[in-house]
Amino acid sequence: MRGFGVHTSMWTMSWDAEGAARAIDAAKACGMDYIEIALLDPASTDAELGRRLLSKANLPAVCSLGLPEACWPSRNPDRAVEFLTLALEKTAALGATALTGVVYGGIGERTGHPPTQAEFDNVASALQRAARVAKDLGLAFGIEPVNRYETHLINTASQGVAMIERVGAENMFLHLDTYHMNIEERGAGNGILAGREHLRYIHLSESDRGTPGQGTCDWDEIFATLAAIGFDGGLAMESFINMPPEIAHGLSVWRPVAESAEQVVGQGLPFLKGKAAQYGLI
Ligand code: MN
Repeated sequence: MRGFGVHTSMWTMSWDAEGAARAIDAAKACGMDYIEIALLDPASTDAELGRRLLSKANLPAVCSLGLPEACWPSRNPDRAVEFLTLALEKTAALGATALTGVVYGGIGERTGHPPTQAEFDNVASALQRAARVAKDLGLAFGIEPVNRYETHLINTASQGVAMIERVGAENMFLHLDTYHMNIEERGAGNGILAGREHLRYIHLSESDRGTPGQGTCDWDEIFATLAAIGFDGGLAMESFINMPPEIAHGLSVWRPVAESAEQVVGQGLPFLKGKAAQYGLI
């Protein structure tokens, strides 16, 4: 995946006929190179319809998710593989090129203890099997470290790299997120450097999840480091202003983080594109 994309959470979290059409139109209207589809409920996703709409709009896609509690890899790797297999099949059927996100657990999964060896063994086993399914479908398979309040398993770029290298699948990649790095890394630049060997995708999300350029993320450090490592993967703006309650709970978002989608697209997107151009990334 290359260029600038946007997470569909800007416009909808439900990929039904109405939501998909609205998100695709909006992404095209703001000149995006691709769209990131939230595939939280693969079983109810009409991939055939999605594929038709995406192909009509000539818009590439990637999918992302977190797993429901009954399928958390740390506890139930077999069910996790079943869930991920269906998600990967839907991803391929949509015509998308990758499945990424919190594929190693739930958004909001925490035991109240540090991760155990047994949990990591289960996660690695599930990811290894899922990566093979992805490979057979011709898909790339990413993992996104998220902050300590959303998982106890993988919080930093280094932990993500360790899991990817343990699994050892060629189609696995690291997906970083500036919002999470702002909490977990000793500077986002250090996170990007730690992940450089496997980094193929980054979420550009402000420190409050709102409008990029209006918080405390150090965007010059972020884009300068991406330029320094020769990053040529996908740059996806992510802001959470349209969330069903179960996701809002996992992400701990309790108030509007921006005035409107128009504000994020009208102010945040030009800001990010300006920075990316300034540092020669686009
Ligand atoms: Mn993210």
